[in-house]
Amino acid sequence: MCLSGSRNQKELRIKLPVRLRGIEIRHVQLVWHRNQYWLHVVVEKPFLTKVQGGNKAAIDPGEVHAVAMTDGNEAVVISGRLLRSLHRLRNKKLRWFQRAISRTKKGSRRRRKLLDAKYRFLNNIDRRIEHVLHAISAEAVRWCIDRGVSIVYVGDPSSVREKNCGSKHNQRMSQWTFGKLRRLLEYKLKRQGIKLISVDERGTAGTCPACTVYTKQSGRTYKCGNKDCGFKGAHRDVVGSSGILDKSVNKVFTKGRVLPSKVQYSRPMVLASKKKAV
Ligand SMILES: [Zn+2]
Repeated sequence: MCLSGSRNQKELRIKLPVRLRGIEIRHVQLVWHRNQYWLHVVVEKPFLTKVQGGNKAAIDPGEVHAVAMTDGNEAVVISGRLLRSLHRLRNKKLRWFQRAISRTKKGSRRRRKLLDAKYRFLNNIDRRIEHVLHAISAEAVRWCIDRGVSIVYVGDPSSVREKNCGSKHNQRMSQWTFGKLRRLLEYKLKRQGIKLISVDERGTAGTCPACTVYTKQSGRTYKCGNKDCGFKGAHRDVVGSSGILDKSVNKVFTKGRVLPSKVQYSRPMVLASKKKAV
């Protein structure tokens, strides 16, 4: 690919990565970001076959489990541990950099070196986070295609998170991830002809599938607080995603809701990185 330069400047020749060869390029832009040049390439992606089938599924996004998803019969729980640990590392390291930089003089060598290191770190860790998010969303989409799902309801955690979760910084971080994961899911599902609909997830994780009484949950397995019912033992996030599906499809919680009989646990398929992020 060749970018023409302005007057007195040589044109810029760039070798395209293999995955972009033979694909129609719509727009190319060279931008200055985090102390280095980035090439943004907008391409037209090839047409994909649309999913056949009219099944519905629901996703309960979370932190320990990035995605819990069910179509009513089966469920899959995709681990979010790797994502969370990368975020923690990002926050911790970033705080360290900010503190160190604030102690240096403006324009000093030390400051420039620290800034370079900070940008290197951010570029590296953000790519890794992005990679994990891609792996999680790709797995969720594959699961939907295999089961002929054409509509996916996704719980919107922003309403729940605002009130009762941790420090401001962490909250912002996780909201950023949820937003990013949702956008990736939406985009990947859309290419397969699957619709993603955001729904209010309030009450879905705590509502008992047997008696529909709400109990605030604290553990990883569901426990009903209604003494006459005593339902317990199911995976909390599976109950959550099943609740989202029930509430979205039937508009109310169904008494005696049948939980998915098969639950599969998986970790996002991530390529091992050769270079550790500091
Ligand atoms: Zn109950």
